[in-house]
Amino acid sequence: MLSQKTRYAIRAMQHLADKYGQGPIPLTDIAETQNIPAKFLTVILSELSRYGIVASQRGKDGGYWLGVPPIDITYGDLIRVMRGSLALVPCASRFAHETCKNCVEEKDCRTRALMLQVRDATAGLLDGMRLSDKIDPVPAAEGLEAVEDV
Ligand code: SF4
Repeated sequence: MLSQKTRYAIRAMQHLADKYGQGPIPLTDIAETQNIPAKFLTVILSELSRYGIVASQRGKDGGYWLGVPPIDITYGDLIRVMRGSLALVPCASRFAHETCKNCVEEKDCRTRALMLQVRDATAGLLDGMRLSDKIDPVPAAEGLEAVEDV
C-alpha cells in the first residue's frame, strides 16, 4: 500500500493542480482543505521542491505552487519521487526491493512472477494519468462494495 506520506503528497499536489495559475497557495490552505498535519506537509512540500515539482515563496503573501504544469506530472512520477512502492509485495518492488524471511528462490516463485505483472499494470495505469486529469471521487459506500466484491 502507499505510505501515508505518499497519500498526503498526492492530495497536496491535486490541491495545487486545482489552483494552478492562481499564484502562491498558503500552506494553511492546503493543510486545512486536505486535512494534512501542517508540519508533515512542510516536509513533503520541501521534498517535492527539491525535484522542481513544487515552487515556493516565503513571506506574508508566500506559499506554494506547481513548478511544472499539471499536464506534465503523472501520478507514477509523483509516487516514485516520494519513494512509494507500487508493488503488493516487497519482492516485486523495483525501488524498495526486499525478500521475506521465509522466501523460496525468487527465480522459482510464481507468486512473485504474478505480482510483477500486477506491479507493471499498476505502473502503466499511473504513468498514463496526469494531475490535470479529471478524476471524480467515488462515493464511500460504492468503494466499500467494490472491496467486498473482491
Ligand atoms: S516467497 Fe515469493 S512472493 Fe514471497 S518474498 Fe519470496 S519471491 Fe516474493
